[in-house]
Order: sequence, then structure tokens, then C-alpha cells
Amino acid sequence: MQNIQSNIDNLKAEISAELKRIGRENEEITLVAVSKTHPVDAIDEALKHGIKHIGENKVQEAMRKVPMISQALEGFHFIGRLQTNKINQLLTLKPFLIHSIDSFYLAEKLHRALGRTNRTQDILIQVNTTGETQKNGVDFENAEKLIKRIAGFSCLRVRGLMTIGMMDPDPEVSRKYFKQLKSIYDKVRADDTQGFDYLSMGMSHDWKIALEEGSNMLRIGSAIFGARDYQEER
Ligand SMILES: *Cc1c(COP(=O)(O)O)cnc(C)c1O
Repeated sequence: MQNIQSNIDNLKAEISAELKRIGRENEEITLVAVSKTHPVDAIDEALKHGIKHIGENKVQEAMRKVPMISQALEGFHFIGRLQTNKINQLLTLKPFLIHSIDSFYLAEKLHRALGRTNRTQDILIQVNTTGETQKNGVDFENAEKLIKRIAGFSCLRVRGLMTIGMMDPDPEVSRKYFKQLKSIYDKVRADDTQGFDYLSMGMSHDWKIALEEGSNMLRIGSAIFGARDYQEER
């Protein structure tokens, strides 16, 4: 816990240095601190020391933790697999962004749930760039088509794209997948009029590569909060 502040300071300094190195120092990057498995105290600690956005990947866990957060928060991000029977619960937490919409079916369920409450929701489309079967996300080939279909839902605003790189110790392995996502992002953005402007890619081990490839939203867990202990998940 004592390390959270220094982890954030170090990470922010590293991000600034990296942005400068690649000539992107004037661009705004959103840093989402991924707090899954970590206690609310840790989230409060991070929010006290310069974090404004937090991310969780399970609705149950978010339902327990988010209402207990005592520090000011700009955005709660939902970044995990979303089951349709958890949509209503998730919406009570008023997510800033849902990163993990990957099918027309899920989008339609979300649109309907929002319609009942007269709200709109900002979402990202998750693309499975690596093609690994255990991962969520629409296939690279079908991503643009899905974005176009979802654009018809008045309660949803597609704000950009998300992907998860390879879990390889060598972050270079993720580069080609990040490039793929950026190519769809640029294509969709070219004829967008309603704020398609988030490219969510890059985690603790591969965020530098993600920034080089154009990411403007990093989802960082262990580099801020330390290693996760799934035994004591809470
Ligand atoms: C856990 C998680 C992260 C953060 O992972 P770290 O490697 O700890 O930085 C980012 N994105 C998603 C979707 C996650 O589930």
C-alpha cells in the first residue's frame, strides 16, 4: 500500500518521458488504474495521489467496491466481460466508459436497458486482435461492420476501440496487434462526427509499445497496485 504513491509517481514520470521521446508530449493520455482484486483502501490511496480514473473487470466486485470509494473520482471504467444479466447492476454504477462491448447482441441488450432509464452510455468496441479463443472481442475482420451496426442504437455512443495485447513477457509481440487496432481506429475516425476518440490499449507490461502505436488510454493494474492475489479476491 505504501508503494502506491511512488508507483504512480514513477509511472507518470515514465509516461511523460516516453511521450516526449516519441513526440506526443502535448497529447492527453487517460490513465485508467485497474484496481481489480485490490481493496477499496488501495483505490482511495491511488485517488489521493493523482489517479482520476479506475477500472474494474467484474460487475459483482465493482458493486461491492465502487460505492465505498471515499475520494473524488472522474470515471469508473468497466473493462471486463459483461454478462447480459449484470447490465442493470452495472448501469447503477454510472460507468464513464464500458470498454468491452463485442457483439450486436450485447449492444442491443445494453441499449434496451438504457432506454428504460432514458440515459445514453459511452462504450468502446473490444476487438480480439490476437485471435486467441479465450479472449473476448469481435474479430478484426468483423469490427468495422459491428461498429456501423451499433451506431444505430440511440442510447449508445461508440467512443472508440479497446484491445488486449499478448501476455508475452516480450512486449514487442503486441506491437502488430496494436497496429491493427490503430488501423481500424483511423479508418472509422476518418468519417466520424460524434467523438470517436479513444484508443484503449496498453497494460503494465506493454504500455510503451501501445503509446508508440497511438494509444491514448492506458489500463494499468499491477504497475500501480502491485501483484494481484486471486486467492483473496474481493
Ligand atoms: C487486469 C486488466 C488490465 C491491467 O493489467 P496489468 O497487467 O495488471 O496492468 C488491463 N486491462 C484489462 C482488460 C484487464 O483485465
